[in-house]
Amino acid sequence: MTIRLVIIGGGPGGNTAATWAARLGAEVTIIERDIMGGAAHLLDCIPSKAMIATGGAVSATKRFAGMGLEQHVAEIDVDNLAERIDGIRARLENTTTQLLDSQGIRIIRGDASFIDAHTVLVRTTAGEERIEGDAFIIATGSRPRIPQWCTPDGERILTTRDCYPPKIFPTNVCIVGSGVTGVEFVHMFESFGAKVSLVVSRQQVLPGKDPEVAAVLEDDFLRRGVRLLKGARAESIEREGDEVVMVGTPYRLHEDENGQPDGRRLEKTIHLRQRDFMLYEWRFNLVTGKTHERVIDDVLNTEFPVINSLYQGRKNRYSYNIIFPLGGKEEPRFPGLVKYDLSTGGYLAYSAGPKYFYNEPGFAPRDNAQSEDDGYLVVPVWNPDEQRSEIQVFDCKGARIAEGPVARILLPRRMPHGFHATFVSQSTLNRWK
Ligand SMILES: Cc1cc2nc3c(=O)[nH]c(=O)nc-3n(C[C@H](O)[C@H](O)[C@H](O)COP(=O)(O)OP(=O)(O)OC[C@H]3O[C@@H](n4cnc5c(N)ncnc54)[C@H](O)[C@@H]3O)c2cc1C
Repeated sequence: MTIRLVIIGGGPGGNTAATWAARLGAEVTIIERDIMGGAAHLLDCIPSKAMIATGGAVSATKRFAGMGLEQHVAEIDVDNLAERIDGIRARLENTTTQLLDSQGIRIIRGDASFIDAHTVLVRTTAGEERIEGDAFIIATGSRPRIPQWCTPDGERILTTRDCYPPKIFPTNVCIVGSGVTGVEFVHMFESFGAKVSLVVSRQQVLPGKDPEVAAVLEDDFLRRGVRLLKGARAESIEREGDEVVMVGTPYRLHEDENGQPDGRRLEKTIHLRQRDFMLYEWRFNLVTGKTHERVIDDVLNTEFPVINSLYQGRKNRYSYNIIFPLGGKEEPRFPGLVKYDLSTGGYLAYSAGPKYFYNEPGFAPRDNAQSEDDGYLVVPVWNPDEQRSEIQVFDCKGARIAEGPVARILLPRRMPHGFHATFVSQSTLNRWK
């Protein structure tokens, strides 16, 4: 009996499965609502490589004089570039479609959804069709994950998919995330002549990859003038006129001879440069290309900034940070916390005493909260002297945080220090179920 195989999604997953199944004798139908070749051809891998190749060509023109040629720096022609990317997509879609056709695979252009375990409904421009199958492959791919703290506008705050090409070519761009996609975009925008900053939450780009390879890449980025903000976490992004504003704490690393952070000397940095663990604000002006960096508080050393999770990605007023140790070479402690008012630069602090180790808190907004600071900070705390872990809860409204915890929950077992908390609302939890 011939198996009727129905595949939803014509990306690399779906179309490869289709050709193999056809070769093995199955009767294959593939349904794609957008472009045969999938997000890889339309939105991800191919357009990003096409942009990188164009960026490489722009970079090459900067070296004309050195090659004995009259110096001209190429200007980006956005329409032409968009046409080039469309042309590449169209060619790839044609070859993929031809291959599937040649194997007798039925291609349906439309949006598929299941009716029951053996039937999908396909909505096409010509109407609806029911397709029955003995087996199904769901190869519907993925999409960019948008963090709760940011709202892309397709203009200034972009996901990868807004970049082929972007509506405005930025002269100054900040990239959050230093995995393969992040570093690919650093490379691309730098080639197009943008000033690039990269937020690296760990101590190396490409976390999880070979540190020696990452070090070579970092050296290359630094040589090209890319700013690496290592150990930094983006906690909000907002658009203010022509500026994007970001607040966070960088581990200002030991600097090399060029004044650039040297991530390979973190241990030394922690002991020698504690004063650099502070709350900073960065303003990236997207028109002038200028970056403005400012220390919000140059008195306290702090780390682990969090904000009310409901304000993530929006203009916010308060940041809650953990106090960093006060100096010396002994084991670092985190003996309290601070509530910053970003609009006035003022703060309120609570000190628990030098023996405590406060970890990254979560902010739980009160039900029907009336203001940004209407909620609780929930802090995992470790007391190394008594070998005891606890959770402390602070009321954040007004000045109450300085009065100390409103509740303490002693834990029966030790929680590792360096623990990071996060707040997840009940409605989000319900969505995950
Ligand atoms: C910036 C970037 C660069 C990348 N570069 C590379 C690279 O260099 N090399 C590499 O190997 N990988 C790269 N990738 C990863 C690669 O793009 C993905 O791994 C690949 O696209 C996944 O293929 P897929 O078939 O699973 O899904 P997709 O390519 O996402 O295809 C899924 C398809 O399903 C369709 N679909 C979804 N729902 C329905 C429905 N209900 N009905 C009908 N059709 C539907 C969609 O329209 C889409 O065409 C990159 C990714 C990104 C983001």
